[in-house]
Amino acid sequence: MRRPVVDLSDCVDCEGCVSVCPQVFVRNETGYIEVQECAVYPEALVEEAIMMCPSHCIFWEDDEETTS
Ligand code: SF4
Repeated sequence: MRRPVVDLSDCVDCEGCVSVCPQVFVRNETGYIEVQECAVYPEALVEEAIMMCPSHCIFWEDDEETTS
């Protein structure tokens, strides 16, 4: 399975991803955007967040443990 990842070094903290897909992207207690662990990620909503992220810092990463 693949999972979304946020590159925090490029994130400008606009909260766009949180408003588009709050079940996946959350602001954690330290103030950073965090990707929730999900059994299944809502592909369409994650894709929408990827497209609207002004910093292009959300991307899919393959989870190697489940691809073999
Ligand atoms: S949409 Fe992109 S820049 Fe905005 S908070 Fe989410 S990851 Fe950061």
